[in-house]
Amino acid sequence: KLSHRLQTIISLVPSTTCVADIGSDHAFVPITLVQEHQTQRAIASEIAPGPLAISQQNIADANLGKVIQTRQADGLQGLTEADQVEVVIIAGMGGQLITRILTQGIAALASISCLILEANNDEPQVRLWLSQHHWQITAECLVQEDGHIYEIIRAEKVEQAVFLTSQELLFGPKLLAERSSVFLNKWRDKLQRTKFMYQNLQHAQKQEPAKIAWAQQRIQEIEEVLK
Ligand code: SAM
Repeated sequence: KLSHRLQTIISLVPSTTCVADIGSDHAFVPITLVQEHQTQRAIASEIAPGPLAISQQNIADANLGKVIQTRQADGLQGLTEADQVEVVIIAGMGGQLITRILTQGIAALASISCLILEANNDEPQVRLWLSQHHWQITAECLVQEDGHIYEIIRAEKVEQAVFLTSQELLFGPKLLAERSSVFLNKWRDKLQRTKFMYQNLQHAQKQEPAKIAWAQQRIQEIEEVLK
C-alpha cells in the first residue's frame, strides 16, 4: 500500500498523456498513475543505478514495461522532446536539489505545463523559484507522516508574472489561506523550536547577531500568522 505522502502526490497529478517522475526510486508513483489511468505513459528517471534497477524490476513485475520507460539521468536531462512529457514530478529531495534540477532543466520545462514538487526542506526556496519562472502554485497539501510534515506543491505554467509575498513564500499561499489543523500544529511547533533556539542564542558565550535577528524575525512572522 502506498504511503499517505505518495497517495497525496498522485492525487495532485492532473489527467495527462505522459508524466515524468524524476528521482523515481521504487517507481511506485508512475506505476500507480498508469494503473489508475491518470496517464497513458510515464517515464521513471533516476540518477543512481541501485534505485534504477529496483524501479525496472517493479515496472516489470507490474507488467508495464511497454508504457513506462526508465532513464538513468541527472534531473530532467534524460527527457527528450519526443517524450512529450506534460507533467513532471520531483519528490523526496531537498529544496536546493529540486531548484537546481529545475534551473538546469529549464529548456526541458518549456513544453511542460504542470509540476508536482515535494521538497523535504527549504520549501520557501522552491516557491521563490516557481514565482520567478512563471509558475503559479495552484494547489498545496500538507501530509503528516512518520513524525514529519511534508508540503506538496502543484504549479502550473502561466503567461503573467507571479508575485508571492514573503509570508506566502514561507507558509505557502494555499496552505496559508486554508489554515488546516495540520498547518497550525506545524507552525505552533516551529514557533516553540524557534523560541527555544532564540533563547539559547541569547545566552550563548559566542554572540551571533545575524542568527539572533533571524530567529527574532521568524518568531514574529509565525506569531503574526497564528494570531
Ligand atoms: N521520488 C521518490 C519518493 O518521493 O518516494 C523517491 C525519493 S528518494 C528519497 C530520492 C531519489 O532521488 C533517490 O532514488 C535518488 O537516487 C534520486 N536522485 C537524487 N538526485 C537526483 C538527481 N539529480 N536526478 C535524478 N534523481 C536523483
